[in-house]
Amino acid sequence: MSAETAPQAVAAPQRAVTMEKIVNLCKRRGIVFPASDIYGGLGSTFDYGPLGVELKRNVKEAWWRDMVQRRTDVLGLDSAILQHPRTWEASGHLQNFTDPLVDCKNCKQRFRADHIQGDRCPECGGELTEARQFNLMFKTFMGPVEDTASTIYLRPETAQGIFANFANVIDTQRVKLPFGVAQTGKSFRNEITPGNFIFRTREFEQMEMEFFVKPDPAEEQSWFDYWVNERFNWYVRYGVKQDHLRLRPHAKDELSHYSRGTTDVEFLYPFGWGELEGIARRGSFDLDQHAKYSGKDLTYFDEEAKSRYRPWVIEPAAGVDRTMLAFLIDAYDEDVVEGETRIVLRLDPRLAPVKAAIYPLLRKGGQPEKAHEVRARLAPYFTTTYDQAGSIGRRYRRQDEVGTPFGVTIDHQTMEDDTVTLRDRDTTGQVRVPIAKLVETLTERIGWHR
Ligand code: ATP
Repeated sequence: MSAETAPQAVAAPQRAVTMEKIVNLCKRRGIVFPASDIYGGLGSTFDYGPLGVELKRNVKEAWWRDMVQRRTDVLGLDSAILQHPRTWEASGHLQNFTDPLVDCKNCKQRFRADHIQGDRCPECGGELTEARQFNLMFKTFMGPVEDTASTIYLRPETAQGIFANFANVIDTQRVKLPFGVAQTGKSFRNEITPGNFIFRTREFEQMEMEFFVKPDPAEEQSWFDYWVNERFNWYVRYGVKQDHLRLRPHAKDELSHYSRGTTDVEFLYPFGWGELEGIARRGSFDLDQHAKYSGKDLTYFDEEAKSRYRPWVIEPAAGVDRTMLAFLIDAYDEDVVEGETRIVLRLDPRLAPVKAAIYPLLRKGGQPEKAHEVRARLAPYFTTTYDQAGSIGRRYRRQDEVGTPFGVTIDHQTMEDDTVTLRDRDTTGQVRVPIAKLVETLTERIGWHR
């Protein structure tokens, strides 16, 4: 399937869920907090709470499992955030990683020129300055002397650490084209207008993979199509609805300085379509540049062709925070259970922060002790929680709201026959399961192997 013929959403459906609902739920339940809250906040920075950190780790782990561990042609890497400043000269980021910035002469607010329509201030209608290029890299100093020679940058993408290690990887691993090198990690961009919660922040996390192929247009095209298709379907496999996704090939004039062609996977957020991931053809741009700036040989020896060349690259580059937000949005649902409206996060069980909640039906008769015992049995395998406060219905609801897929209830019968009830978050249906079979049953129903 080529980018052009891949499934496109028919019409943009309206989202029932609002950002306000998501943001409130995230704050109320310890998924995402505004950062530096006790000092009044620090614009567009966020901290992930006890449940958010689990969800975020699960997103990264799902990506890592599918993009690295389960594949025979991709290896992992974890490079430093601080790279030699020459890296950013070579990569073109010092020169080209800029956004056009305009100021309102009246209210002094700043905007990205390519994000506003018309030539007046979108806030007050005032006159705007001419656009000037603003570099998005964060600068800092290495060591005690703060001068030009010690200036370094926080990486604006993880990709360059992969290119800088190209020779290290091919010299130490037995790799044959085509192969990929993947990494996840923090990146930093001094965005002019961050916003929309965790969609656009200045500190964020990326999941990137550089897939090296023979420098041949047909080979490049077929792997590009493969990765566009693969990445689109990955989101669907973990719960994003297909008609909330679309592919958008970039127009020539919006391509990044390194790209020969890019297709974005876009998601229908409550605020409109926005990029989730970009799949770019970087050609040999990066390896050529690093070879030139470092003087090192960054070629690959092709045994069959008996020739040396610098491979071309297909790069699927995704954002952890945006992906987590998309999963939260598409999981969010409200329905009526026993005459009461409940919020339920229908997260894929593999992504859910907590897999099972353990409840004693009553706070007596040995049930709480038994519940702790059951929890201790499950804890080596799954994230669990324990709750004995309030009616059982209220306790189920509390877990539905944060997407816990399974509830394990210890009741009177448990004390007699060592079985528990296992409740399903989505159907609210319950079945009786022997305690001895719980690990097996939950493993099966979480579906790690899918
Ligand atoms: P945008 O056009 O939205 O600024 P981009 O095209 O600059 O994004 P890429 O350079 O392709 O983004 O980065 C790859 C991925 O990293 C994006 O698809 C997105 O998921 C994530 N990402 C980029 N910038 C941010 C940010 N400021 N906050 C959160 N995630 C980001």
